[in-house]
Amino acid sequence: MSSQVRFDPYAELRHALVEHLRQRGIRDERVLAAMERLPRELFVHPAFIHRAYEDVALPLGYNQTISQPYTVAFMTSLLELEPGQKVLEIGTGSGYQAALLALMGGRVYTVERQWELYQRARQLFARLGLAIQTRFGDGSLGWQEHAPYEAIIVTAAAPHIPKPLREQLALGGRLVIPVGGPQAQVLVRLRRLSEHEYDYEEFGEFRFVPLIGKEGWSETPDIRPTSSSS
Ligand code: SAH
Repeated sequence: MSSQVRFDPYAELRHALVEHLRQRGIRDERVLAAMERLPRELFVHPAFIHRAYEDVALPLGYNQTISQPYTVAFMTSLLELEPGQKVLEIGTGSGYQAALLALMGGRVYTVERQWELYQRARQLFARLGLAIQTRFGDGSLGWQEHAPYEAIIVTAAAPHIPKPLREQLALGGRLVIPVGGPQAQVLVRLRRLSEHEYDYEEFGEFRFVPLIGKEGWSETPDIRPTSSSS
């Protein structure tokens, strides 16, 4: 690496975000260290670059969002990813989550169903020199070819836990996925104990864009709120 000192105008904001996440209860130092290195300003939509280090979800275009940093940090901690382990992400979006997993030493596979986002993320991975395997298609079925995975993370809301995803977990592997209706979901972690046994845990309410696909929601124009009060 060059010994030249380069001015990084975002370094301070990045550090402040990491401190904020620590205060909010994120304890996994490997997650925090990777977030401190990852330039979120490259992943957000250019129109929101000035808000890149706020702890909020931001629009990516195409009705999709880059998840809130707290949510990314929390979900990543739940994955218990060790360097060298294989991890599958469903919902590449901006690529931020996948890049974080790669910085933590994961061997990352990620699937996206929206063509423009898929292309944009691929270009960014190449530019950053990140060896992330990408696939365009319906990730609700997983990515069988490279299974089993020590960790699987779904960054879109599923109506139920897709069977192909739990079957693509290695023994001891963790699947982290938001499950529930379109308005709110609970974050679930499934841990594969044996061929047919899984440990199930819940971690509070979150809100994600829908997982659309064979094991997700159908591709209807929109998913309307069930109550008319909003
Ligand atoms: N992890 C992303 C945020 C993802 S937003 C990030 O770090 O920026 C959710 C993404 O899931 C969207 O890009 C959406 O297009 C994608 N998605 C929804 N259903 C999908 C499916 N069945 N397979 C793959 N991607 C899907």
